[in-house]
Amino acid sequence: MQPRDLSAHSPYVPGRGVEEVARELGMEPEELTKLSSNENPHGPSPAAVEVIREYAAQVHVYPKASHTDLTERLATEWGLDAEQVWVSAGADGSLDYLSRAMLEPGDRVLVPEPGFSYYGMTARYHHGTVASYRLSKADDFAQTADGIMETYDGERIVYVTTPHNPTGSEMPRAELTDLLARVEDHTLVVVDEAYGEYSERESAAALLDEYENLAVTRTFSKAYGLAGLRIGYALVPSEWADTYARVNTPFAANELACRAARAALDDDAHLEKTIETARWARTYLRDELDCHTWPSAGNFVLCDVGDATAVADASQRAGVIVRDCSSFGLPTCIRVSTGTREDTKRAVEVLNRVTREVAEA
Ligand code: PMP
Repeated sequence: MQPRDLSAHSPYVPGRGVEEVARELGMEPEELTKLSSNENPHGPSPAAVEVIREYAAQVHVYPKASHTDLTERLATEWGLDAEQVWVSAGADGSLDYLSRAMLEPGDRVLVPEPGFSYYGMTARYHHGTVASYRLSKADDFAQTADGIMETYDGERIVYVTTPHNPTGSEMPRAELTDLLARVEDHTLVVVDEAYGEYSERESAAALLDEYENLAVTRTFSKAYGLAGLRIGYALVPSEWADTYARVNTPFAANELACRAARAALDDDAHLEKTIETARWARTYLRDELDCHTWPSAGNFVLCDVGDATAVADASQRAGVIVRDCSSFGLPTCIRVSTGTREDTKRAVEVLNRVTREVAEA
């Protein structure tokens, strides 16, 4: 007995975990600074933690009211109808729902290269195929409508990530509206704003009133610090009405996640502190790292270090875990998440030293 032919499917390569690395290196987890998965260095919102404790004894019920409450809260937040808010298990869950809603077998999606690997994975799970458009290093990974339209060939979904993972680049509003106007009527443009809170630009959600071919995805994993709970959402066109009811996995967004997300939305202090730290740290990384770096609107900075695998390995041995971007097709680059002031300073010290050592070896 074998599963279907999965040879076209590649496994997701996550950033490495602290416990996993500590065990491998024979170190204590506390000795390690993890800056490889763009997590929130301040942890979750304390208000969310309180709610998780409070409702721990309620997890024998299916998440119903909590899901409705979160959906309505988000609809108010974004000035949209509740039907336009698709709550899901992480933003990844939203990408799955969008694939289910959009793709017939054989339909193609267009994804950025380098880029977040799950866009292609979810398309393949849903029997779709994948084409990619290039964001070029020589162009500092600029995101333009022309750049995408050069490769665009009537795909059913076009993915835009802004701020973009792993480069930190953004797609300016005029480029996005140009893209929305130029794609064919059957093409949905999905704007992934997983790192939207860290950007100074307005969300593409503001365009949902004007464009019928736009969806926006957001997450509580980053700025709200709830990655381990798996909660995110998509904002979709108004005319899709009951589509969510037809595509969602029942109760995939769990009780504690829905309640914690709503509490986190009310915790302005935690969000402000998180954004302030990330903006400080990305400036610090760019100012203090000796290697070439790119401007970033996210909670991470892409750094050109030469041999990315050797530098990431050496940095890890020195206690700082960063993301080797070889799996993104950038074998000379690492991605460093923004940490607390202390962790970010430690990262700079270690990375400057090991990059020099690797280059001299
Ligand atoms: N989009 C991008 C660009 C990401 O980097 C991530 C997280 N790695 C996600 C979506 C998914 O986030 P989550 O499923 O944790 O909400």
